Amino acid sequence: MKLTVDGLLVYFPYDYIYPEQYAYMLELKRALDAKGHGLLEMPSGTGKTISLLSLIVAYMIQNPHHVRKLIYCSRTVPEIEKVLEELKNLINYYEQHQGEKPSLVGVVLSSRKNLCIHPEVSREREGKLVDGRCHSLTASYIREKHERNPEVPICQFYEGFSREGKESMLPYGVYTMDDLKQYGADRNWCPYFLSRFAIIHAEIVVYSYHYLLDPKIAEVVSKELQKEAVVVFDEAHNIDNVCIDSLSVKITRRTIDKSINALSSLEKTVAQIREEDAARLTAEYEQMVEGLREAQVARETDMILGNPILPDEVLNGKISLTHHQARLTAECKQMVEGLREAQVARETDMILGNPILPDEVLNGRPGDRHDTGNPILPDEVLNGKISLTHHQARLTAECKQMVEGLREAQVARETDMILGNPILPDEVLNGKISLTHHQARLTAECKQMVED
Ligand code: SF4
Repeated sequence: MKLTVDGLLVYFPYDYIYPEQYAYMLELKRALDAKGHGLLEMPSGTGKTISLLSLIVAYMIQNPHHVRKLIYCSRTVPEIEKVLEELKNLINYYEQHQGEKPSLVGVVLSSRKNLCIHPEVSREREGKLVDGRCHSLTASYIREKHERNPEVPICQFYEGFSREGKESMLPYGVYTMDDLKQYGADRNWCPYFLSRFAIIHAEIVVYSYHYLLDPKIAEVVSKELQKEAVVVFDEAHNIDNVCIDSLSVKITRRTIDKSINALSSLEKTVAQIREEDAARLTAEYEQMVEGLREAQVARETDMILGNPILPDEVLNGKISLTHHQARLTAECKQMVEGLREAQVARETDMILGNPILPDEVLNGRPGDRHDTGNPILPDEVLNGKISLTHHQARLTAECKQMVEGLREAQVARETDMILGNPILPDEVLNGKISLTHHQARLTAECKQMVED
């Protein structure tokens, strides 16, 4: 029958209507007009579901800008099925009287357990098992694995829906769970994901309270629903229980046991990782310290090898190398000065005793830095290329060689004199007294003799 409720034409799929149903529709119409909330109560079995659907569908069709969506929440699967059956009757009634279905899609959303058509997964009895197995076939990382290795199982219905289902909209009409399963099986599409996708665009959605009241589910499923929606809570006296249920966590003895096992295993893993990390860190630390130690030894060895006479106070950093070099230079200068003076004294003795020594001896040999009195140490000592000991040894050898040369020259000269004077006494010939001394003594004796 068709009736008018406060100016709204309502299609009612039955021949009779109770006055309570009409009054119910009237109050509902006022609540919709007022865009407010309505709390309506009617005894069970008085036809409130069809009254409600008839009025809201009529309102949606005739006021599409005010109400674009009807979200009908019911508590149990049988109640949901009943709503869908009533809705289907209503849409068919429209079709009978208008020649075509109204431009509406009505769809149900239920759990995987109620919608899965996978031959193995759908056999599971527990909803959680169905969810778990479905997840193990449809998770993105599983599908990536399948790309690399086709042996890794995936769900063909999920893949079918992913490829084609998102591109197409459900034709106008009402889809019960069985309708969705048939529709999905015909196209190789998963009915559950088809339904999840369809509720975004459908004008009428029928699902459980939990999809709207449970924050964990609502966040995923109902986030994209429009604001211009009428929400109906059937049997609304159950809302408090559903809310309590949604925000509660059930912990069983088995859950606790499993949690303890999981924690123990986690603890062991963490301890193992910590142990491995500690061992690795200790090894790295020791390696680093050893490296530093070796570097230090190498540095010290280099310094010692390159400068074997560097004192500890330089190696230990108590005084700088520059300071040490300055001090060493001063000491060397002093020492060379001493050597030079000694040499000069020696040469002077020789000169005084042997006035016939050649000029090259008297003036020092050209090129001998130390002979010319140059106190400056050679660069190779100052730069640490050779040690001072080495330099001293070399200097001493050179001095010795020079003195030896002088001595040989003197001996040669004395020999010449001896050969020319065969009466020289043994003490001169044996070198006990010098020829000069002998000459002086001889001169003095001659002088004395002449004097006498
Ligand atoms: S994707 Fe759909 S058909 Fe496949 S296992 Fe999950 S619920 Fe079942």
